[in-house]
Amino acid sequence: MGLGSGTGAMNSRELYPLACPPVTSGRSRIMPAAKIRDRRNPASIQGVTMKRRELLRGAGLAAVAGGLAACAPQRDGATGGAASGERLQWKMVTSWPTNFPGLGTGAAKLAEMITAASSGRLTVKVYGAGELVPAFEVFDAVSRGTAEMGHSAAYYWKGKAAAAPFFCAVPFGLNAQEMNGWLYSGGGLELWRELYAPFGLVPFPAGNTGVQLAGWFRKPIDSLADLKGLKMRIPGLGGEVMARVGAAPVNVPGGEIFSALQSGAIDAAEWVGPYNDLAFGLHRAAKNCYFPGWQEPGPTLECMVNQAAFEALPADLKAIVETCCRAVNDAMLAEYTARNQQALDALVREHGVQLRQLPDDVLLALRKAADKVLEEVAAADPMARRAFDSMRAFQAQAKAWHAVSEEAYYAVRG
Ligand code: CA
Repeated sequence: MGLGSGTGAMNSRELYPLACPPVTSGRSRIMPAAKIRDRRNPASIQGVTMKRRELLRGAGLAAVAGGLAACAPQRDGATGGAASGERLQWKMVTSWPTNFPGLGTGAAKLAEMITAASSGRLTVKVYGAGELVPAFEVFDAVSRGTAEMGHSAAYYWKGKAAAAPFFCAVPFGLNAQEMNGWLYSGGGLELWRELYAPFGLVPFPAGNTGVQLAGWFRKPIDSLADLKGLKMRIPGLGGEVMARVGAAPVNVPGGEIFSALQSGAIDAAEWVGPYNDLAFGLHRAAKNCYFPGWQEPGPTLECMVNQAAFEALPADLKAIVETCCRAVNDAMLAEYTARNQQALDALVREHGVQLRQLPDDVLLALRKAADKVLEEVAAADPMARRAFDSMRAFQAQAKAWHAVSEEAYYAVRG
């Protein structure tokens, strides 16, 4: 289960070596979208209104004009308008090591799906953390148009938008099934799009790990006192909750967790769960593994798209991007569901990991602290207030339904 073992190890160029497939006669008759827009709006310049042109220039865009740019890759950094026959190459920056199981392979899968579904009209090239931009600069890179697309986790951006963590993971919040319910059918995605719009970004759910582990600790956690002064890698609102019970949270990109834990720079770390934590070898740096992942009960991964680049796409490519994100959102959860227990067996049976549940007093203290943190975040920011209220209302009804569905079923399944 090495870093390159995922199904998405091949890049889109390797999978789709025909850089210039034959143009069909049907496609050749399609008028470039830019010219179509010209007819609708005489004031536009090659399909771009002045306002739009300024937007595009601001994002470093340069390739709207040009009609059928057969087989010519987009210029570096360019996010162009996509006429129906144009071939675009987008960059996708990510917060994960290239092809890291689940997360990195999910991003690669998304790129491959978009490329295949569009018959190569929109080719997406994936960049691992640090290849084009560092892990925690994905948001800014896509916002300014350095890349057209990014794959990351919204809670990394809480310093830019206080409400961002609600669209990834909230301590003691929604699980994966409930996150999908809230985002797709409960008003969550509309709020997320509203939150990201001022940054020139369009977000899509694009993955979920399911309930995570609580983390890896160099020393056992027997009581709340053992958390005092503990330096722990734990991002998002989970980190703020840990701070309330006396720990010292830090954020470290995934690819740097092992060395930080092994060197003793940090005392503990949460990453994802058995499938991913085994791949990073966290058990070699700390033997005490705790559950459950109260801090991330069903984190949604995100695909963010530069708004100007997205809006320049024809309707079918927009639909392809949205549909492929939804497919990967589902596929990633399926992968974690299928792989986590295999990895956990290996960790416990082959690597001598001590697997324990966090003590009751610790979990109770964390839950009380989480309630306070969430209320304070909501009280300090109007958008966070709306996101929290919407999520909290959804969680109440989901909890009531799951009492007689999921929970009742688990209790009798045996
Ligand atoms: Ca995590």
